[in-house]
Amino acid sequence: MFASKLVCTKCGEEYSSACGVYKCRKCGSPLDVRYHYEDIAEVIQDNDPWFREHPHMWKYWMFLPVSNLRKVVTLNEGGTRLYRVKRLEEKLGISMLYVKNEGENPTGAFKDRGSSVEITKALEFHARRVIVASTGNMAASISAYGAKAGLDVTIVVPEGTPEGKLLQARMYGAKVEVFGKTYDEALAEAERRATEEGYYLTGNYHFRVEGQKTTGFEIIDQLHFKVPDWIIVPIGAGTHLRAIWKGLKEFQRVGLIDELPRIAGVQIEGYDAIVRAWETGKPVERITEKVPTIASAIAVKKPVDGENVIRAVRESDGHLGTVTNEETLKAGMLLGREGLFVEPSSATALALARKMREEGIIESGDSVVVVATGHGLKDTDTWNRVIQS
Ligand SMILES: *Cc1c(COP(=O)(O)O)cnc(C)c1O
Ligand SMILES: [Zn+2]
Repeated sequence: MFASKLVCTKCGEEYSSACGVYKCRKCGSPLDVRYHYEDIAEVIQDNDPWFREHPHMWKYWMFLPVSNLRKVVTLNEGGTRLYRVKRLEEKLGISMLYVKNEGENPTGAFKDRGSSVEITKALEFHARRVIVASTGNMAASISAYGAKAGLDVTIVVPEGTPEGKLLQARMYGAKVEVFGKTYDEALAEAERRATEEGYYLTGNYHFRVEGQKTTGFEIIDQLHFKVPDWIIVPIGAGTHLRAIWKGLKEFQRVGLIDELPRIAGVQIEGYDAIVRAWETGKPVERITEKVPTIASAIAVKKPVDGENVIRAVRESDGHLGTVTNEETLKAGMLLGREGLFVEPSSATALALARKMREEGIIESGDSVVVVATGHGLKDTDTWNRVIQS
């Protein structure tokens, strides 16, 4: 294993990669896993078979914090296809447009990349029971990987969580417990039980970041190590975007790429805490209003990786934008006509691409990758309403 230590993304405090550290004990910020990058570079250098290997998540094992590769908990996550969408290129006036279709993952969303690493680490730390606070895709994903590993999984959800969203978790055998009125309360309860009752806590923490950065690795690999001009990512907690950016910088650091793409993040109207902070230069503040949304997977009021998203966008000379429910639904319908059925939250990325092209931020000669984070069958209620209206 090439992972060396954990470092706080805000204050730089260092930790050994032990069990039970979920965030910085000094300042409460998220942690990052660091590696011995010179050793990784050596493994990859002139390694022709490695370059020829088909892109899939565990191809990048040297960038993942796992001690024993034979004990990886996997359901064949990753290895999702990158589609060139020619008709949309013409419609939007973008010369190269690709969709990374994360709905092809085992539970229908990119979360499986992170869950594979988190549950593998849970076994490494001899955990028997894992807990996660979630209302949707994270719950489904942790439940599936927990089941595969033979662990007890407990999902903590706030009151009023729609039963439909919990069906997947129940089918994978998870215990679903209702606690509190908001996601924040459910999360506090999950964290309390991890600390006081010995549950292994999963969610938007550093090991998940490591799995989810492989979305970025695969995009670069699938483009034959030619870096696109833009990668556009939907933002909920911001962990996926942060992860993709971390991974791309690691690819550059070990010499796999010379340049970096520009990263754009998209939020849905009403849940734009990060865009607001970006535009005003103020810290990311919790959204207090409750606004109806079609994009439940990204309707996050206090994004835990908000500051890390802003840093990534600043470092990459990127962009942050908001799209409306209406723009998102239109984008989803367009993707459908390309044979790609995505969750509303995922369609935001194409909606922002369109807007950025109209505003001239994306130029006609640019190559653009939009990350479609989850499968359309995850949220048939929303699409049914659109089709029937
Ligand atoms: C979780 C999720 C997101 C948001 O990802 P974050 O890491 O929370 O920013 C976007 N789309 C789908 C489908 C998701 O499940
Ligand atoms: Zn800190």
